[in-house]
Amino acid sequence: MSYLGPEGVIAKKNEYFVPCINHFYKNPPQFVKGEMQYLFDSTGKKYLDFFAGVSVMNCGHSNPAIIDPVIEQIHDLQHVCNIYLTENGVNLAEALAEVTPGNLKRSFFVNSGTEANEGALLMAQLYTGAHEFIGLDLGLHGRTQLTMSLTGIGMWRTTDTPNGGIHFARNPYFYRDGRRDENQTQEEFEDECIADVERLIRRRTSGKIAAMIVEPIQGNAGIVTPTPHYFQKLKALLDQHGILLIVDEVQTGFARTGKMFAIENFGVVPDILTVAKALGNGFPIGAYITTDEIAAAFTRPSASTLGGNPVSAMAGLSVLRYIKEAGLMENAIARGTQLREGLLELAKKHPLIGDVRGLGLMLGAEMVTDRKTLAPAADQVDEILEKMKDRGIIVGKNGENRNVMAMQPPLVVTEADVRFFLDNLDDVLTEVK
Ligand code: PMP
Repeated sequence: MSYLGPEGVIAKKNEYFVPCINHFYKNPPQFVKGEMQYLFDSTGKKYLDFFAGVSVMNCGHSNPAIIDPVIEQIHDLQHVCNIYLTENGVNLAEALAEVTPGNLKRSFFVNSGTEANEGALLMAQLYTGAHEFIGLDLGLHGRTQLTMSLTGIGMWRTTDTPNGGIHFARNPYFYRDGRRDENQTQEEFEDECIADVERLIRRRTSGKIAAMIVEPIQGNAGIVTPTPHYFQKLKALLDQHGILLIVDEVQTGFARTGKMFAIENFGVVPDILTVAKALGNGFPIGAYITTDEIAAAFTRPSASTLGGNPVSAMAGLSVLRYIKEAGLMENAIARGTQLREGLLELAKKHPLIGDVRGLGLMLGAEMVTDRKTLAPAADQVDEILEKMKDRGIIVGKNGENRNVMAMQPPLVVTEADVRFFLDNLDDVLTEVK
């Protein structure tokens, strides 16, 4: 097989892509093959993948348990559109109803996380008859006009004419915002954030608010992880005001945090849950899932041409089956604990690691050049990513300041993989100034 190679890919990208799509690394590899938790580049070099295509490949790359049934489905029937009857989509909706918390039961299938959120926001407006929305500072929900308008990270807000009726609440980002008062606990800080939501509702809205949308763990914000206290108080406050809670599980869903959905760690049941990424394990699918009562408000005709078609729905069915059969929730907890403990050990030795946070195998290490001022170590994170890649390990980064190293591997990683990752990170942190 001959490949373009990294230079060839970059040359075509520069010539033919809209120039808004950036890639990681000074010297990026061209990936040509995947095998469970491993990737291979065009030179045949092997990599341990600790980012899973941004939390997508939870079941591993080209896993036969996922791709074989999908390939069979492609041979049998690819697409007729949901104006005709096929069965994978309804079977997947039924399977999702079984694994989602509370009374969440009815699904609307789409092709991406953005679309899932866009649909959930419309659903909330139809049910409540209200039109304003609340998001979180540093939340990220997509690329369309409405989801971008609800995204609270400047670098992802390209539109300069965002939708009106949208408000942002203070982010419960304890490490960066809460530690100003050294005696304050995370829960006390979160009480202030809840008070901010209450103030926002009272002072800055018409009172007619359809929904608040939040990620249970904020991926792009830098794996910001509130406590159960925050979500429980938030849900109670929203209930008081008749505001729906939309939980965006696009990045956190499907066993990554040790539960099927991250919000289950916090003891709260959302009114609408959105999913994408790992549901398809590399095939395009997304959905919003809600209750009988809320869904009943959406009776005008609607359809998505490709949403939940037989092929992507077969991927979803195979993912749900594999998560159970392979014990991915259990592995996310076991390997996540090993990784977290290893990172905390490294933090004792390497002052660059300011904070370690997250749940299961969705972990972030926030890098700072000074543990008092929390000056973000963005250049150092780039250097770490480059050196890890040279050693055959792919790891991610995110955060408003691009200084959070993100570890979100396929959930099939082994004890030896995590050890290999930690040993190499130890060496790299010693090299990075
Ligand atoms: N919500 C969250 C939390 C995300 O992380 C992302 C993508 N990174 C999206 C929504 C948008 O998903 P998509 O790219 O599939 O449209």
